[in-house]
Amino acid sequence: MTTSTVAYLLTQELKHSEIEVKGWVRTFRANRFIALNDGSCLENIQCVVDFESMNEVVLKRITTGAAVHIKGGLVDSQGKGQSVEVQVSSIEILGDADPEEVSKTILQPKRHSLEFLREQAHLRTRTNTFSAVMRLRSSLSFAIHSYFNKNGFYYMHAPIVTGSDAEGAGEMFRVTTLDAKNPPLDENGAVDYSKDFFGKETNLTVSGQLEAETYAMALGKVYTFGPTFRAENSNTSRHLAEFWMIEPEVAFMDLVGNMDLAEDFMKYIISYVLEHNKEDLAFLEQRLEQEDKSKPQNERAPMPLTEKLRFIVENNFKRVSYTEAIEILRSSKPNKKKKFKYIIDKWGADLQSEHERFLVEQHFKCPVILFDYPAKIKAFYMRLNEDGKTVRAMDILFPGIGEIVGGSQREERLDVLREKMAELDIPEEDLWWYLDLRKYGTAVHSGFGLGFERLVMFATGMGNIRDVIPYPRTPLNADF
Ligand code: ATP
Ligand code: MN
Repeated sequence: MTTSTVAYLLTQELKHSEIEVKGWVRTFRANRFIALNDGSCLENIQCVVDFESMNEVVLKRITTGAAVHIKGGLVDSQGKGQSVEVQVSSIEILGDADPEEVSKTILQPKRHSLEFLREQAHLRTRTNTFSAVMRLRSSLSFAIHSYFNKNGFYYMHAPIVTGSDAEGAGEMFRVTTLDAKNPPLDENGAVDYSKDFFGKETNLTVSGQLEAETYAMALGKVYTFGPTFRAENSNTSRHLAEFWMIEPEVAFMDLVGNMDLAEDFMKYIISYVLEHNKEDLAFLEQRLEQEDKSKPQNERAPMPLTEKLRFIVENNFKRVSYTEAIEILRSSKPNKKKKFKYIIDKWGADLQSEHERFLVEQHFKCPVILFDYPAKIKAFYMRLNEDGKTVRAMDILFPGIGEIVGGSQREERLDVLREKMAELDIPEEDLWWYLDLRKYGTAVHSGFGLGFERLVMFATGMGNIRDVIPYPRTPLNADF
């Protein structure tokens, strides 16, 4: 007989058959009821032990946290709360868990704070909350690959160690094998990186976009989905030093095509989890409602979790130019009454998350795509509009979070790009290969970036980015 998963057993109609299951004991009640979980789903399966006929030594070893191998019959449950249970005929303890030791850990079955769970990140996935989050994370990542695969995109692996530091997306981590205590120096007394491993200064990538552009201009439609690194010393609930990013890039696609793609993509992946992760989403929705009870009204989630996800799938994203958005914000109530932390007074201002949320949650009441931003607040590679002051950029704004996607049509004209780089003091030597793209068969092309953890936060309702990645890396923390 082969071992079945708990998820499989719980869907079985055929009762009274002999089964085998392996998992970890969540609780053992009244010397009789084992709540067994194997990670295959949120729910436990109840395994009923006949303690009178059970070896006493084995019985004592059935404790919270222990790994067990159970054989028995799958029968209709006598009790409430589950349809089937296992009538245990034999139980083998695969791995003990000493109750004394367990009592010091988060395995102990009671409410633990998210902070305490973070300290035991190696065990936290044995809790309902974290197993649900991590199953959703996996599901979202599968949905992303599936979307691109269905739509003719190639998966491209951008390098993680980069020699170009011109992306300008954020502070970088240096990659070096030089001896920090005694580095080789040049004649000016500066560190001589020509003696370093790669013969030059290298860093961990902050974005795969520029490399993805080169691939789009050969393969047509590509996307990256890989780790990116930013040494930003901002200890916020939305920033990690190591996070995963999805960056599609498409040749011959303009900004309107880019918005269409991003909207269709977001709707697909969110529909996917609504359909495939119902149980986990229902649990997380409940968890969020519970958590919100202890928060002031204005910090609570704008709507229940699954309603928020359906809100994305069921509404057309409202497309609004930056200029229109500024007008709306300028004459809005919170701006006039100075309720915004940052007051919007003139065109050119960078929007904060409070403004983005106002547009989505109060004003338009649907997801919003803002486009045609002032060139001054956007990156050098974005295509300049005919007005000479705005660029073909777009940001997608979601409820509860603000910006979730940022993208643009890229500047495909060599002379305009060169001028822009000169203006910003970006040396052409660093990006000669990027400029080459504009020399050999240049064409309109566009793409966007989605921070994967921001998406997982949105889809799970978790409020801290440290709780949606297995082992978060943040300032002063690289544990595990
Ligand atoms: P933010 O203003 O939130 O710092 P950004 O403007 O620096 O974001 P981009 O450079 O546009 O972000 O990066 C693309 C996407 O990557 C963002 O939309 C966001 O989802 C995500 N992202 C950026 N920085 C981080 C980070 N430190 N941790 C996790 N995700 C991030
Ligand atoms: Mn940033």
